Amino acid sequence: MSAQIANSPAEHDSMFESVLARLDVAAKTMNLDENVNKILRNPSRLVKVSLPVMMDNGKVEVFEGYRCIHSTILGPSKGGIRYAMDVNQDEVMALSAWMSFKCAVANLPYGGGKGGIKCDPRKMSVGELERLTRAYTRAMKDVFGVDKDIPAPDMGTSGREMAWILDEFNKIQGESCPGVITGKPIVIGGSLGRDAATGRGVMINTLCALKKLNKDPKKTTASVQGFGNVGSHAARLLAEQGITIVAIGDHTGSFFNEKGIDIKAALEYVKNNNNTLKGFKGAVEITSAELLTAKCDVLVPAALQNVITEEIAAGIQATLIVEGANGPTTPEADPILKEKNILVVPDILANSGGVTVSYFEWVQNKMGYYWSEKEVNEKHDANMEIAFEEVWNNTQAYKSTMRIGAYITALKKIEQGVKLKGNY
Ligand code: GLU
Repeated sequence: MSAQIANSPAEHDSMFESVLARLDVAAKTMNLDENVNKILRNPSRLVKVSLPVMMDNGKVEVFEGYRCIHSTILGPSKGGIRYAMDVNQDEVMALSAWMSFKCAVANLPYGGGKGGIKCDPRKMSVGELERLTRAYTRAMKDVFGVDKDIPAPDMGTSGREMAWILDEFNKIQGESCPGVITGKPIVIGGSLGRDAATGRGVMINTLCALKKLNKDPKKTTASVQGFGNVGSHAARLLAEQGITIVAIGDHTGSFFNEKGIDIKAALEYVKNNNNTLKGFKGAVEITSAELLTAKCDVLVPAALQNVITEEIAAGIQATLIVEGANGPTTPEADPILKEKNILVVPDILANSGGVTVSYFEWVQNKMGYYWSEKEVNEKHDANMEIAFEEVWNNTQAYKSTMRIGAYITALKKIEQGVKLKGNY
């Protein structure tokens, strides 16, 4: 991704405000109970901790850690842990609210949470990262719990960090609690299919949307921004469906080939190139703005938030956007995309495959019996198709965008939950 995009300031100063902006539109459209609206505007718990870590150079560094529980109305809070330099209170609040809505859209028995540590994992040694992760777990020992708050990977974290968190948590509890965290490596209680799940969800959502648009996947082209856990699996799975991937990119470079990029070759390249696309030869190098506005049918932003600004939206040529990242589109860009008649499958639906298979992992941990990858994928696909259809139906019923349709789908369930539990 080119620097000017990666560093461009969000048009909305506060990400949480940008969640509230969409919540307001949805609340008005569906006439949401005003008490429910008030509850959802205020995350139920926000924990901030200072984490002293002995660095390899013998000096102590103190890191900021957060965990925000947005809601537990539909069940224990669920959501990832992010390691990045821009982690802050506002961001975890926004991301935790999106988790509440995402879990509700995907019909999972969860509320929403999100955590993060302000750090640059690429500049830390494995030992430093392990000490930091264990310190964070100790600080959050009263927040996390199998039926309380269940973290998972997010940007900058993976199965490796989940294994450390599980181990530290087990030591504190004095027993094995595999269900306290998802996205674990398979041998210590992870689920088959979890790694590729978010990308798989993006693929299923793309197929569902193309069907509504009467488009044949085999005659469709796509650009995928981001080549990490979400983007790389999404590109691979979309290509397996016969979609031609004309552009891919990550934070080190973006690439275009109108004849189609060999995704298998790109995956192989990344494996041997420090997990980056830098220097990839199977296409012409372009800027990240050019990737987002490239000539193609489907655009999959699967990297950072706030990359589809008003300016970028004005230049987008795709007719379908499937949001693999959380919050890739600014609220200001929404009306431009609507005006241009671009169908946007929003993040809280499009990237819910990850948390859906996290839920399956948690269920398997609870019963101590594990499914085959085929079973997991079938359950995932069926669940995603139902979620897509529910959102589509609300979108039609309220004559809204799919984003607002997805918020309405979530809010209806959460509203019912609040009323049934009577917790206000
Ligand atoms: N971090 C992922 C997300 O934003 C996964 C969360 C989970 O599996 O709990 O959806």
